[in-house]
Amino acid sequence: MIFSYSRLKLYETCPRRFYYKYVLGIPENTSTSFLALGKAVHKAIESIIKGISFEEAIIEGYSECDFHPDVSIEEISKLVKNASATKNMGETEIYFRLPLSNSPNAPEIQGYIDLVKGNRLEDWKTNWKMYDVNDNHQIGLYAWALHQLKGYDLIEGSLSFLRYKKESKYFFSEVDMENAKQWALNLANEINFKLQMLDIFPEKLDELFPDIPSSSCEYCPFVLRCYKDNVREEDINGSRNTSSC
Ligand code: SF4
Repeated sequence: MIFSYSRLKLYETCPRRFYYKYVLGIPENTSTSFLALGKAVHKAIESIIKGISFEEAIIEGYSECDFHPDVSIEEISKLVKNASATKNMGETEIYFRLPLSNSPNAPEIQGYIDLVKGNRLEDWKTNWKMYDVNDNHQIGLYAWALHQLKGYDLIEGSLSFLRYKKESKYFFSEVDMENAKQWALNLANEINFKLQMLDIFPEKLDELFPDIPSSSCEYCPFVLRCYKDNVREEDINGSRNTSSC
């Protein structure tokens, strides 16, 4: 399995949800208005940076989300304006795929960095909720990737919250980048080990990929499946208490 920040974060939040999505491959609804808006806004900003006019870029963005009925041109335009994007302001959608250690069987991680300009990287967010760039390892990990690709020792990483025209940024040193990379490596190794164990001991699923009920169950597309699996396990085991999701 090739990892990504979002895969690792999903596993860290709820191993069972990771199992449903990436091990069983149960499809998620990818046409939600939230995802569609993000897609449209990213495409439009990218187009402006490539030199397309604002109006054309907005239409390109809207078509990128297949003119989703719950996404409006006005909302796309407002968020794109807040990105203050200009022609040739940097490189967009920088792809990386890198091994997480020097070991021959090292797990690999891949991702896309929204914007890179010299030793600065930026990730555009359409979220309603803002948070600090150091609340999770996403930007630290992207800084590590940029360090691997371009060699910068100090990287300014920024989360740009387009709804509020505000950013949270931090200068990542080599130590910070290494810490983020180590977080990813530890989780990737843990997942690979558990997948091997699951092949040998399929009956240990509940121990290897447990469900961790939290506020994120509200948005989990597998909530019914999770509930049914837990009811089945309670029938088999008698007393397990997993009713909170
Ligand atoms: S419903 Fe909650 S506990 Fe169950 S898989 Fe989804 S996030 Fe995990």
